[in-house]
Amino acid sequence: MMDMCNWREIDDNWSHYWESECGLVWCFNEDSTPSENEMVYCPKCGKKISEHKFEFEQEEE
Ligand SMILES: [Zn+2]
Repeated sequence: MMDMCNWREIDDNWSHYWESECGLVWCFNEDSTPSENEMVYCPKCGKKISEHKFEFEQEEE
């Protein structure tokens, strides 16, 4: 049983924000993570934040 809230980093061309699995959207300063902003627990659901950094998809040729 998971007691974590998954936070996913969203990196569009023009915006940078984090989206939580419980439906919260949060903007941090550019390129910083929730933990770098001393956020350990999700402010909405109270679970511990599990960070999933944005990764560019690798194109194979
Ligand atoms: Zn949450």
